[in-house]
Amino acid sequence: MAVIHELDSHMADLIAAGEVVERPSSVCKELVENAIDAGASQITVELENGGITYLRVCDNGCGMAPEDAPIAFRRHATSKIRTREDLSAIGTLGFRGEALAAISAVARVELFTKQTGCMEGVHVSLEGGKMTANEPAGCPDGTTFIIRDLFYNTPARMKFLKKDFTEAGYILSVVEHAAESHPEINFQCIRDGKRVFHAPGNGSLQNAVFSVFGKELSKNLIEMPENTLNGIRVWGYISKPHAPRANRTYQHFFVNGRFIKSKLVQAAMEEAYRNSIITGKFPYGCVCIDLPLGLVDVNVHPAKTEVKFAEEKKVFSAVYAAVKNALAGEENIPEIEAKP
Ligand code: ADP
Ligand code: MG
Repeated sequence: MAVIHELDSHMADLIAAGEVVERPSSVCKELVENAIDAGASQITVELENGGITYLRVCDNGCGMAPEDAPIAFRRHATSKIRTREDLSAIGTLGFRGEALAAISAVARVELFTKQTGCMEGVHVSLEGGKMTANEPAGCPDGTTFIIRDLFYNTPARMKFLKKDFTEAGYILSVVEHAAESHPEINFQCIRDGKRVFHAPGNGSLQNAVFSVFGKELSKNLIEMPENTLNGIRVWGYISKPHAPRANRTYQHFFVNGRFIKSKLVQAAMEEAYRNSIITGKFPYGCVCIDLPLGLVDVNVHPAKTEVKFAEEKKVFSAVYAAVKNALAGEENIPEIEAKP
């Protein structure tokens, strides 16, 4: 007797959802990325109970047409890529067309959206992937998603969540990273009714970085002027050598406007500080890298925080050179004194 059978689409959605939606902050990341891709100049994230019971992401971007809104929740439904060629040069943060399907499979979702210039918007709601409303609605230009009761139908996932405070911290990091990579967007984060983060969105990276790093850490940041090597542009704000951190939490790396984790960039940055920083301590700062879309593959992991560089050595050299230049330009870098 055959024992192999195809899972029904709901089961398939639930499993796929696990890859994209690990915790409330992953939901927030996907929704904020969509808002950025929609060309928003203002994005507000509101959360309660660590984003587990309530997460709202509101943008003033292009909005969706009433006929597109329900389709957006289908798996592999995207407006961002069409052909195989598109996949090798991804210029948007999203492209997999999976996030909304994944989120709506494991939560109660409400969407309000209106395109600029349209008289009327639309309200769509889903529960556990099933549509429960699709009706005209009066709403402002742009898009608002409200996600309630994440993982209400997947208790196994729920168990892996941390305390509300910790989950809220992860969400705040997502908003902060978005603000650093998009200084032209005004961001707000409201946690349990209190505003906990605000980035002005006036286009100044310095202001965005200040919002994220705060007064104390910002004091010891220097500008890393733009430096281009091998067609790779690197710039940002990095810490003075005499003010290192005990860990790497505040090393923030961005590639083409996307927050990434990268051992390569980390190594290049740290190598540039070598001999000017105490061993066992780490530099911090915001390192932005722009390179031709074809030289970086973001389709490595569903969460898209890991990327693959086509020419790693060139990226290493470009980051190293930019950091080194910035440090050389910084006067009065005190030498670390050898302890007698
Ligand atoms: P992807 O971002 O990979 O395309 P998503 O599942 O995140 O996939 O979103 C599906 C589609 O829904 C997007 O391609 C876009 O057309 C639309 N969409 C989602 N969020 C927004 C938003 N905030 N504003 C406008 N359109 C949106
Ligand atoms: Mg998306």
